[in-house]
Amino acid sequence: MEANHRELNITTIKDVLRQYLMDKGFRNTPERYTILEEIYSMEHHFNVDDLYLLMMQKKYHVSKATIYNTIEIFLDAGLIRKHQFGEKTLTSSSYEKSYFDKQHDHLVIYKKGSDKEIEEIIEFCDPRIQGIKDAIESTFGVDIASHSLYFYGTKKN
Ligand SMILES: [Zn+2]
Repeated sequence: MEANHRELNITTIKDVLRQYLMDKGFRNTPERYTILEEIYSMEHHFNVDDLYLLMMQKKYHVSKATIYNTIEIFLDAGLIRKHQFGEKTLTSSSYEKSYFDKQHDHLVIYKKGSDKEIEEIIEFCDPRIQGIKDAIESTFGVDIASHSLYFYGTKKN
């Protein structure tokens, strides 16, 4: 069951990508689907270097420029989301697959005494956040499409 479900998911996201590329008039290159499949087989957040390394290990020859370009396409297509976990440079932004995900937020834990070196990233889902969203929507008469919430800290002794 699990395997079938996974295959169905991959078919779905490939269709989303195919439709997006067609709508935008972008080239329908096979490497984009390979990268997409790699991303959707990952369970964790990743950055461009992680993805590049993974592709190299699997003997897929794609340039970093292609990966950056493809990441931008996936972001715009709503297939992945981008995170700022507090890294200093733009090139170390983190990403994660997002198409089937339930909304969740992130707790970024830095190593004590380090200069923003990440020890762990914990995902959490707190229903009270939905409550805040509902309240804001009705107070201001808006439809909220997305939100972004990060907690940054260190472990207690
Ligand atoms: Zn996450």
